[in-house]
Amino acid sequence: MNKNYIGGEWVTGVDVNVNINPSDTNDVIGEYARADATQAQAAVEAAFDAQAAWAKFTAEQRSDALDRIGSEVLARREELGRLLAREEGKTLAEGVGEVVRAGRVFKFFAGEALRMSGERLPSIRPGVEVDVRREPEGVIGIITPWNFPIAIPAWKIAPALAFGNTVVFKPADLVPGSAWALAEIIVRAGALPAGVFNLVMGPGSKVGDVLAHSRKVRAVTFTGSTFTGRQVGLACMERGAKVQLEMGGKNPLVILDDADLQQAVEVAVSGSYFSTGQRCTASSRLIVQDGIHDRFVEAVKQRLAGLRVDHALADGCDMGPVVSQAQLKQDCEYIDIARREGGNLVFGGERLERATPGFYLSPALITETTNDMRINREEVFGPVASVIRVKDYEQAVALANDTDFGLSSGICTTSLKYAADFKQRSGAGMVMVNVATAGVDYHAPFGGRKASSYGTREQGSYAREFYTGVKTAYTLA
Ligand code: NAD
Repeated sequence: MNKNYIGGEWVTGVDVNVNINPSDTNDVIGEYARADATQAQAAVEAAFDAQAAWAKFTAEQRSDALDRIGSEVLARREELGRLLAREEGKTLAEGVGEVVRAGRVFKFFAGEALRMSGERLPSIRPGVEVDVRREPEGVIGIITPWNFPIAIPAWKIAPALAFGNTVVFKPADLVPGSAWALAEIIVRAGALPAGVFNLVMGPGSKVGDVLAHSRKVRAVTFTGSTFTGRQVGLACMERGAKVQLEMGGKNPLVILDDADLQQAVEVAVSGSYFSTGQRCTASSRLIVQDGIHDRFVEAVKQRLAGLRVDHALADGCDMGPVVSQAQLKQDCEYIDIARREGGNLVFGGERLERATPGFYLSPALITETTNDMRINREEVFGPVASVIRVKDYEQAVALANDTDFGLSSGICTTSLKYAADFKQRSGAGMVMVNVATAGVDYHAPFGGRKASSYGTREQGSYAREFYTGVKTAYTLA
């Protein structure tokens, strides 16, 4: 049994979560403790009690702890990547890539702990000094989704600790294995004082709810669906806590007539289907200009036909299974909805049988869709992309921006004019030219607009906005 970590102790829960491999439902990865609200509250108390002492550690001590954690994560990339692929369904290469990213994030924030800086301003009053300093917020509640089970926790836990906050971390119930492995490394390699870092696995409605509502949790960082994010956000705002929400997407990728066809196909296939399309930044709306439309659709179909969908750990696997039965059902329902609304399923979208029982779905491509169809308005979160045909660039931009979401967007073009214009007019928080809408650098700000995100940016040096509070001090010497 893999236990929760509360107040410096490994503790059993009130219930057991049996973690199943989506590539092989006969493969049990392990049993993980599930906490209840009382245990979650105990973790909050422990984090609260530990915070002042942790904030007094020198920046170098905090930096060293994060550096050791990063080194350990990187050293165990193969083993952790395998675990991640086994429990979430990413391919082994994708799993290892995600682990490396997590390790690098810890290294980056090890540096950020030392780079924490303030400002000195001239006063309007003679003899007075004004200084602006950053301080830790206190206890940070961290709530994460299942689709990046080690990278997202890393990019929240690392800055929280770097800047002197303490942490209560609640991973998604579907993927406790990667979260537990990361927590174990943090506890052992980090050698943090009791209460600085707490892991509380369990259901969102109980454990997550405590983090959203507890008065002692001064800031909550959440990544997950728009529906849950809004609940968490409202709870935080009601009690005046800081909150950061990263939520869903319906990301457009525009393909113009002048695009390099080969490149556009790679950008679309990578953005739409890799990681089984289970990425908030996945390109789910392919907005394609008339002159290249038919050639593009044909080339994407050919590329998809060459992809191998299989057990995530199988040699040569390009796309693993969908994460769960419930997600598979949702993907298939959206494909049906799209067809009923007039879309043309030109490739995939079929349940596949493999050597082991798993949630296999062939990548689905749906053409002849319009931007008002549900398939283009709502997030599917699977290997499903739809094509919208447009006559010109202006129509493409208008449709790309005609969405409730605003996380990532992209354009494939060889025209400097259109690339520059799209970067300016796109309504998304991240804009890509000739690169996939999914796939970002860990040292650059990450986040969206509209229904996709709320609050300050994650990652890179922008992360300090959330994990620190600003204090302005006036002194007459
Ligand atoms: P989800 O909203 O179901 O769950 C996210 C987390 O919230 C989980 O840990 C869950 O247990 C917890 N939770 C559930 N109910 C809660 C409650 N009432 N109070 C507090 N916490 C609660 O999302 P998911 O299915 O795990 O993840 C998929 C979603 O995440 C997709 O919508 C995807 O777009 C989004 N996502 C967004 C980003 C981003 O950066 N924008 C990145 C990855 C995933």
